[in-house]
Amino acid sequence: MDKNKNSIRVRIAPSPTGYLHIGTARTALFNYLFARANNGSFLLRIEDTDLERSRDIMTESIKSGLNWLNLGWDEDVVYQSDHFDNYRERAFELLKRGNAYWCYCTPKEIEERKKKALNSHKRWMYDRRCYNLKEKERKDFEREGRPKALRFHIPPGVTEYKDLIHGGIKRDNSEIEDFVILKSDGSPTYNMAVVVDDHRMEITHVMRGDDHIPNTPKQILLYKAFGWKPPEFAHFPLILGKDRSKLSKRKNAVAISEYRDKGFLPEAMVNYLAFLGWSPKTKEEIFSLSELVERFTLKSINQKPAVFDLERLEWVNRKWMNRLKEEEIAKRLQHYLKEKGIDVQNREYIIKIIGAMGNRVKKFQDFIQLGYYFFSDNFSLDEKGASEHFYPGLSRRMRKLVDRLEELEPFNREGIEEVLRGLSQELGCRSAELIHPVRLGISGMTFGPGIFILMEVLGKKRVINRLQSLIEYLKGEEK
Ligand code: GLU
Repeated sequence: MDKNKNSIRVRIAPSPTGYLHIGTARTALFNYLFARANNGSFLLRIEDTDLERSRDIMTESIKSGLNWLNLGWDEDVVYQSDHFDNYRERAFELLKRGNAYWCYCTPKEIEERKKKALNSHKRWMYDRRCYNLKEKERKDFEREGRPKALRFHIPPGVTEYKDLIHGGIKRDNSEIEDFVILKSDGSPTYNMAVVVDDHRMEITHVMRGDDHIPNTPKQILLYKAFGWKPPEFAHFPLILGKDRSKLSKRKNAVAISEYRDKGFLPEAMVNYLAFLGWSPKTKEEIFSLSELVERFTLKSINQKPAVFDLERLEWVNRKWMNRLKEEEIAKRLQHYLKEKGIDVQNREYIIKIIGAMGNRVKKFQDFIQLGYYFFSDNFSLDEKGASEHFYPGLSRRMRKLVDRLEELEPFNREGIEEVLRGLSQELGCRSAELIHPVRLGISGMTFGPGIFILMEVLGKKRVINRLQSLIEYLKGEEK
């Protein structure tokens, strides 16, 4: 993408201290859609200034999560850890211009003064002790070799901006603390690094979660102190859990990788994430990434928090399983199963399983949880089901059934049904008295696809072998 003066440039700036979070992925998606809809650039910046907490493995997981969602970024990834000199230079620039000052207060001293203020029910903000330091005191601290941090001096006045989603936001500067821009170890703080980078990267629109609203006036003040034009700002609504509390690791799967692991389709994930804060204002609900690009505008973003609803995501995923071609779904399921250690060579068999399971499965993981018996003879028997549906004399009936099935050719649902119903009539029992035990014998479960389809899909050899094992088991029980 060419970088001409008027082109839109947006970014996401995750900190690699955790996996790609649902909220970050949603912010990435909105930025991506905005960039693509406006022929702009979507950039990725890794905010790894906190060297202690940043992990390469997290950076990799963020990148692979974005790639999985198909949210490819333009240009090279920017790492903040490559720009420490730049932040320091810029911070000293502010010091020289009188917009920043050294603070020698130790964390302990600050803590004590804060406690005192709070005890007398006063609000606490850094009290500018070091801004008002006498020259001699400063010299003494320097001689002592006290660690020092650089604080930004908040000018008097009011900071206002027009948020592209929330409209006018105003903050009295007297409510903003002289925040640290350079820590005593020489590393920049978040607000400092973000402004220096967004300016250097020529970001035109800073769009992130609502939780950053309190940071924006601080950042605008930094832009002003540098004499730079601030970008536009937009803050996306928070994502809450179903109980309307903040989405938390304890209650929800919050990492995108967990959804991939459960076998959700990336198309469905993107589709669902878009609805966390955006809506097309029509009844349509299923959109591909390119369809979203066509529809997306910042105007259609809600101001109110969005609620994450797993059932809704499953519903969207199911819709996408129907929307994609059967062959494509089969290919992906085959790949998914392989990753889980289940190697199924026969694509036709997978297609039949998908057909048989129908809407019972909402995501690939369900094929394993609800249909493990399709892939292995080593399934366990539902004990409760067995105690309900197995009865004395059943092994003889099963023997007869096996004999009939062995002769059945072709082994299809119609033929199987005929055999089963015919046999139950002959034996003078209800078909259910054969069907329930057969289902338990061939799948270990009491529920699943229609029995005749299930038998057809499993195929003659598997069904007969499993029924034979059932007979052996029943004989053991009958003794
Ligand atoms: N590193 C910040 C975060 O992950 C970035 C916020 C921003 O976009 O400015 O929340």
